[in-house]
Amino acid sequence: MAAPSLSQEGRENQREEWSLEDFEIGKLIGAGKFGKVYLAREKESGFIVALKIIFKEKLDKYQYHNHLRREIEIQGSLEHPNVLRLYAWFHDETRICLVLEYAAGRELYKLLQDLKCFSEKRASTYIASLTKALAYLHEKQVIHRDIKPENLLLDSEGRLKIADFGWAVQSSAKRHTMCGTIDYLAPEMVEKKAHDYAVDNWTLGVLCYEFLYGVPPFEEEDQGNTFRRIMKVDLKFPATPYISTEAKDLISKLLVKDSSQRLSLQKILEHPWILKHADPSGSCNAMV
Ligand code: ATP
Ligand code: MG
Repeated sequence: MAAPSLSQEGRENQREEWSLEDFEIGKLIGAGKFGKVYLAREKESGFIVALKIIFKEKLDKYQYHNHLRREIEIQGSLEHPNVLRLYAWFHDETRICLVLEYAAGRELYKLLQDLKCFSEKRASTYIASLTKALAYLHEKQVIHRDIKPENLLLDSEGRLKIADFGWAVQSSAKRHTMCGTIDYLAPEMVEKKAHDYAVDNWTLGVLCYEFLYGVPPFEEEDQGNTFRRIMKVDLKFPATPYISTEAKDLISKLLVKDSSQRLSLQKILEHPWILKHADPSGSCNAMV
């Protein structure tokens, strides 16, 4: 079933027309810094969604308004099979509610913790899905800047969905802000230099490595050491687990210091490793 009345023209994004009354609230599915996420059903259509309820008081305390505004503006304008939909939002005196697509699968980082590392088939399928999502975002002039396993959710078919647009920016100009989790930061961000879309391509290389080896490539106890390893692109491929030459080739072509020399998103999708292993459906449920 499509999102019936949620996406009906005219109602979407008209926050005054929606209220908590329109939903039956189910179980708590998660809690973040600013609020809680519940499974919910829109009463009229029976459509299942995830309701993220954020308390305004918490936003005030952490001065998170700009982040949330950005998250809503950006995520609300996106429609891609690998990007978590934000169908609508509304607010009352104390709360802001985001009506989100429900990702019924597990969080990707938990799956990675359990499996320790992914098979080349699973890893390449996630990387291809992510690449397609990023190509769509970049086309819309959105740089995510905070792609990491914690921000990736899986739907009921095991398809990857990018969530959490709190750090994303919509801009075609080069940016200077420092953000993101350090293990996933591109050298130009570590150095607080201007950065552009190519930061997301670097992150794809980091994720590809982490999916296959179970740890990000520059991980160190001490943040300073991680910074130094990123700056040197101190990339080492351990002997175990066995990883194919093609996979290492792709990683090496993404973890390139000169951002203009990183493999383009289009070229990633044409890379032999992706062509050989990635499941075109994007679904990973049936995989080992
Ligand atoms: P932060 O407050 O920094 O954003 P967070 O990302 O952990 O932290 P939320 O985005 O509020 O917080 O989400 C909390 C948890 O709820 C997520 O980790 C995830 O497990 C779950 N969750 C969030 N959105 C959805 C969704 N649309 N479908 C399914 N589960 C979700
Ligand atoms: Mg979040």
